[in-house]
Amino acid sequence: MIRKIAYFSAEIGFNERIKTYSGGLGILAGDTLKSFADLGVPVVGVTLLYKEGYFKQKIEQGKQIELADEWDPKKLIENTGKTVKVNIMGEDVHINIWRTRIKGISNRTVPIIFLCTDHPKNSSTAKEYTKSLYTGDRLAQEMILGIGGIRALEAVDYYKDVEVFHMNEGHSAFLTLELFRKLNYDEKAVKQRCVFTTHTPVPAGHDKFPYHIVNNHFKGEAKDMMPWKIKEYAGEYELDMSDLAIYFSRFINGVSELHGKVSREMFHNPNITHITNGVHSVSWTHPAMQNVFSKYIPGWMENPELLSQANVIPDGEIWYAHRQAKQELIDHIEREFPGSRFDPDVLTIGFARRAATYKNAMMIFERIDQLINIGKGKLQFIFAGKAHKKDQPGKDTIAGLLDIAHILKGKIKMVYLEDYNISLGKKLTAGVDVWLNTPRPPMEASGTSGMKAAHNGVPHFSTVDGWTIEGFKMATGGWPIVDIYDLMAILEYTIMPLYYNTRKSRWIGKMKASIVHGASYFNTHRMCKEYVAKAYKMKLSDF
Ligand SMILES: *Cc1c(COP(=O)(O)O)cnc(C)c1O
Repeated sequence: MIRKIAYFSAEIGFNERIKTYSGGLGILAGDTLKSFADLGVPVVGVTLLYKEGYFKQKIEQGKQIELADEWDPKKLIENTGKTVKVNIMGEDVHINIWRTRIKGISNRTVPIIFLCTDHPKNSSTAKEYTKSLYTGDRLAQEMILGIGGIRALEAVDYYKDVEVFHMNEGHSAFLTLELFRKLNYDEKAVKQRCVFTTHTPVPAGHDKFPYHIVNNHFKGEAKDMMPWKIKEYAGEYELDMSDLAIYFSRFINGVSELHGKVSREMFHNPNITHITNGVHSVSWTHPAMQNVFSKYIPGWMENPELLSQANVIPDGEIWYAHRQAKQELIDHIEREFPGSRFDPDVLTIGFARRAATYKNAMMIFERIDQLINIGKGKLQFIFAGKAHKKDQPGKDTIAGLLDIAHILKGKIKMVYLEDYNISLGKKLTAGVDVWLNTPRPPMEASGTSGMKAAHNGVPHFSTVDGWTIEGFKMATGGWPIVDIYDLMAILEYTIMPLYYNTRKSRWIGKMKASIVHGASYFNTHRMCKEYVAKAYKMKLSDF
């Protein structure tokens, strides 16, 4: 099978049982590969195989507990039996190559290869390099992904046809050095083949490694892997993975219009452009809503742009599909919190995010007395989200939200659901009535959960950041938030009266606008077509 594009990502989340993702970045990568499969684009995905996943979250006594999230690759993906080696700190590390295929809607497939260092010949240290996501020796992980990834493509015979190497975030940037060596140290030849997508303006999202550590890790590969000009490529004082990726890429993009601009300033690089994110429409639309779409808009699965015709759907059908999704969510809450009795007739607001501080989960509770005043018995809140193991401020946010739930007791129902993952994400984005999003601009590069909500006719209530800037311009049916006073006023005087109006048609109009203007555009089919044309410089009709 000829593969013209290799898509490298440290996380790929496309199946809830294959735990090679932590959140937005991985799910975007999974959705992207699903759309490539649907569209028949000849891509191969490259990632790492983390046997303990990211982590499984439990909430106990007001705190997050992290457990290993083990899964059994043998049951879910195939061991190719092939191996490659990368020398790390003088040790030849053996890497097993696993593979699976994502099947697209017309039966075309996208293979994904997974690299795993759990090999009997490796030292105990090396065996653990790929044990879990975003922990352990990150530099070693990134050498395996970038350098090992190129070697693995060769071992399973995809390499020779690949014309474009797409780095989804800087974690895979060492692939440029391996290509540099293979292409006779011809910088231009590397640049012709590389494309880079940056995903966040948050500094912690850009890995940097001190050179004394880099030199030690690379000592076995050092002679040709750490070229004489590395500091020119990747930074004078530390090796910056994003700078390395940028140096060797002929096309660089951020993931929303605003993020493109923020990235041009951040990297002092006027050539950075943007391709706005999307979500895989079929994967994120509730089955009841899928049925409604299929009945009135045949062909929407192959071409989600057709969702712009959603105004033809009778109000009642949208409403009943939504009620079904909402009831399923309420049943899930009842299983997790017996006796909680969420009410299907009460306006339900959802918020599920990585508990990173810039996501500002506490914003809606800044004027809590006023909130109780206007919302008593008339609002329900559902929160979820993991904090990275080492993110103390993020953990404090979770503790803060649990305190709020306590304060609201008897007045406004609120739960914090454990272990936000793909399946919970599906339930939440389809089952709530309003999707709340309050990041501090301009820190949210794109955000994608609001796009999932839009596919289910769930309007977003959001600060103006990331994708929502474009969304609001397209009249996607949500409500923009400027500050807390604004938030409270919109909630009290616009959202609640609209929701509780006995004539539901105006509310359903908002739901439809989310589908017509949101889902029809903010999907990965549209996004992938942009990557093919603008980044890969290829034509869909050639595949
Ligand atoms: C969609 C999704 C995310 C990313 O959502 P954002 O809005 O970008 O924060 C993270 N985690 C899970 C489980 C998701 O489904």
